[in-house]
Amino acid sequence: MSDAKLETVLSSLSQVARQLDVLLSDKPAPDASCVKLNTNENPFPLPTVIMQSAMAALERQYLYPEDDNVSLRQAASEAYGVSKDQVIAGNGSSELLGLIYRAFLAPGDSVAMMSPGFSFNRKLAMLQGAQFLEIGWGEAVSLPIAELLFGPAKDAKFILLANPNNPTGTFVPVADIERLVDQSDRLIVLDEAYVDFAPDNGLRLIDRYSNLLVLRTFSKSYAAAGIRVGFGFGHPEIIDRLRNIQNVFNMNVIGHAVGISILAHRAAYAENHRHIKHERQRVTLALLQLGFSVIPSHANFLLARVPAGQDGSWWQAALERQKLLVAFFPDKGLQNYIRISIGTKEQMDAFLATARDISGSLKTPRSRRWAASGSASAPRAR
Ligand SMILES: *Cc1c(COP(=O)(O)O)cnc(C)c1O
Repeated sequence: MSDAKLETVLSSLSQVARQLDVLLSDKPAPDASCVKLNTNENPFPLPTVIMQSAMAALERQYLYPEDDNVSLRQAASEAYGVSKDQVIAGNGSSELLGLIYRAFLAPGDSVAMMSPGFSFNRKLAMLQGAQFLEIGWGEAVSLPIAELLFGPAKDAKFILLANPNNPTGTFVPVADIERLVDQSDRLIVLDEAYVDFAPDNGLRLIDRYSNLLVLRTFSKSYAAAGIRVGFGFGHPEIIDRLRNIQNVFNMNVIGHAVGISILAHRAAYAENHRHIKHERQRVTLALLQLGFSVIPSHANFLLARVPAGQDGSWWQAALERQKLLVAFFPDKGLQNYIRISIGTKEQMDAFLATARDISGSLKTPRSRRWAASGSASAPRAR
């Protein structure tokens, strides 16, 4: 029962690693029959020409990938009109987030994030023993610049904001972000994971402001979440520091090849992005008819407030029983919401049909519900 050796080993964990002792979840991966709308993937195949580059890369499987991702960074610099020394390539942008936390935060430091935001950041701060300040974003239509400059965030080592934001899908004008970057002497990390679904982006600001880092990923808008390709853009001196603490061979040869090929064929995604924006609008209107209220989204997902009577976790569970996966956030202020990723038309039709069934079963008085359905498998309302 008691394993003295294990106890000794565990007691050697750093204090911050010990704080994380409760493992989040080890649910098995959802099977293919599920409609997976919970992690904002883009469920379309890679364009053929990009697929071919991945296959060709497999023939170089015995070689280490290129040192320091030189060709990939070069390709990104050309595609985005910046210089190569303003680019770092990551195994997904979450690797780059991890580097930023490691580079800038020591125990006792603080970091600020616009909230609600991407919850992975909380864990990264914890791992550094840093204090994680969440700055409320209200309706998220503009940035609380004075609060960021003069409130508790003024001492943060850096400030993080995502635009469009996750999980709200809201977008603030780039001029707001420029005002913050201009007036602040903090590093501002602008996470643009969803920017290809939005009307504007802030990449042009990196030439003017040395305190801005912009993050991009191919996971969402380029349908490559499983390949792991992300980029950071900023001042060469900061980019250099981050590259210097990065793992050698952080990306694999397939990630390199697919990354370079996507950069060369970004136009091939125009129809994908058009489709997602179109479905986003269609699903928004359909949800409104079911009594949800939907925050106008500039990303590939919707944050929807569920109709009065049930909360978000109830809806998530009810949908999951019908093999429809959506995201629910237990955080304060989000309990009445679910987040629905935008997928194929068929996936969204399946989601809406199930949401309609659940909604209908809630409206039917209990006594009539079973008579009307005539089936024991009707969705059960609790
Ligand atoms: C999905 C997501 C990321 C991480 O993307 P990867 O490149 O797959 O690591 C980063 N930031 C936000 C806001 C995201 O939603």
